Amino acid sequence: MNSMAVKERDASAGGVEISKADDMQQHALTDGFHLVIDALKLNGINTIYDVPGIPISDLLRMAQAEGMRVISFRHEQNAGNAAAIAGFLTKKPGVCMTVSAPGFLNGLTALANATTNCWPMILISGSSEREIVDLQQGDYEEMDQLAIAKPLCKAAFRILHAEDIGIGVARAIRAAVSGRPGGVYLDLPAKLLGQVMDAAAGQKSLVKVIDPAPAQIPAPSAIQRALDVLKSAKRPLIILGKGAAYAQVDDEIRALVEKSGIPFLQMSMAKGLLPDTHPQSAGAARSTVLKQSDVVLLIGARLNWLLSHGKGKTWGEPGTQKFIQIDIEPREMDSNVEIAAPVVGDIGSCVSALLAAMGNNWAPPPAEWIATISEKKEANIAKMASRLKKNSMPMDFHSALGLLRTVIKERPDAILVNEGANTLDLARGVIDMYQPRKRLDVGTWGVMGIGMGFAVAAAVETGKPVLAIEGDSAFGFSGMEVETICRYNLPVCIVIFNNNGIYKGTDVNPTGGPDVAPMVFVKDARYDKMMEAFGGVGVHVTTPDELYRAVSEAMDSGKPTLVNAVIDPAAGSESGNIGSLNPQSALTKK
Ligand code: ADP
Ligand code: MG
Repeated sequence: MNSMAVKERDASAGGVEISKADDMQQHALTDGFHLVIDALKLNGINTIYDVPGIPISDLLRMAQAEGMRVISFRHEQNAGNAAAIAGFLTKKPGVCMTVSAPGFLNGLTALANATTNCWPMILISGSSEREIVDLQQGDYEEMDQLAIAKPLCKAAFRILHAEDIGIGVARAIRAAVSGRPGGVYLDLPAKLLGQVMDAAAGQKSLVKVIDPAPAQIPAPSAIQRALDVLKSAKRPLIILGKGAAYAQVDDEIRALVEKSGIPFLQMSMAKGLLPDTHPQSAGAARSTVLKQSDVVLLIGARLNWLLSHGKGKTWGEPGTQKFIQIDIEPREMDSNVEIAAPVVGDIGSCVSALLAAMGNNWAPPPAEWIATISEKKEANIAKMASRLKKNSMPMDFHSALGLLRTVIKERPDAILVNEGANTLDLARGVIDMYQPRKRLDVGTWGVMGIGMGFAVAAAVETGKPVLAIEGDSAFGFSGMEVETICRYNLPVCIVIFNNNGIYKGTDVNPTGGPDVAPMVFVKDARYDKMMEAFGGVGVHVTTPDELYRAVSEAMDSGKPTLVNAVIDPAAGSESGNIGSLNPQSALTKK
């Protein structure tokens, strides 16, 4: 197509047909395909997560030929989730590429999820011809993708001319990573990719984005106000959120926590920013510290549903608690409750400014407060230890998780991916994390289906072994990607907590009819055989010892492995920890 375009041009210009090679020598040409690839590479983006098809198949082939890593999935949602978590792990936008209309829509869930979680991601979709789409004349996969993407992401752009590709990609990168990070949609009509232009002019049109996420320095008065509030505290608490993990200023955060002596809680994906076993960790006394603290310093954590909106039963009496919040997004302040000391800026700059202003004589929190927390922690840790030791048969969640906890303890640099209901809630509490950005889970939406996309990207981006602990239901949303894991031979070990259903596998159809109950699956399914179908290792285990052995072996060998762990079908609880969000019928309420 490229060479045809070249010939046509020359024919119309001079009437003489010359070979493409001669022509390239006289005035080299480039096209939309190559400009997109060059623009991404120029900005340090070297991996594309995708599902191929018209009109992006050639783009992907060329990207691979130009040395990019191209990871093709079986469904766009999983490719999108991979790009989103790559953004979280690297602070660079993860790129997902899809075909038009249906492929685009499949990728959109991940783009919206990335935006909700504040992760930088760019969804690039091919689209059909504008002229036909806008007159609604019925093109192949016709859809006004730009309009549909807009409300679901941070920014959306369309590029119509090859000479604008450099600027378009630069705008997408800046929008994704600056300020509060988020998802960006970039629309590339099929015609754009084939457009030809002079190679030198094309090269000049590319933009290397300088300082894509500029530091945002907090005002000194905001820092002083925050320290005044913090100094007044009798029972202070620090809460670290996944924004703090994203910021990659691990040493500064640790210094602030340790200098202040203040107990801390880590939100799910912030776990490991400081080791969960750190003496100041109040993780095992979570409800006590949320209820009893008088000043709470939030660092990259929002007071959304995951923190009960900063009010209600989880927290202290209204008016007894003051909040200091560090966030890059000014509008986050007062979103749920009054913020006494808003500190707006990037976490690195804010934490450094606080550290500097604290001086060298910072008084630790009152001993009484620390003692209250220690007491509670010790009691809870002892209670948990006895649950983890139970060697029940069939396995329940705790007896299985106790050993997976050891697997991570023995390999603190491995990455843990986690989704499910009970499988998620209990693993979050049981498995200690020791290093930053090692726990990847369902995030702000609590969305199922992230598992295999996250596992693939975690392996691709970090090269570390990945342990994906999956509820049997959660796994189903992205299960076909076991083929992708085998195809790229990734060091991923999937453990399915197989209790025959959603929450539990014991529901029955009350009518006695032939259909099973809505929440149960095929009994005693052998998920391990799925992995074997693609050349991976499948293991079926029924005891904690077998589980530990199989997972340890997989983590050490790096071979794609799926461990089907049989869990007591009666072991789960409805909706895991969030049963309270289930609406109840007034008629059947017990
Ligand atoms: P969690 O669910 O762990 O509590 P959230 O996703 O709710 O975390 O909150 C993360 C917060 O971090 C968001 O409000 C986001 O604006 C903020 N954030 C992300 N990156 C940065 C950064 N580099 N500097 C400051 N704030 C950031
Ligand atoms: Mg289940």
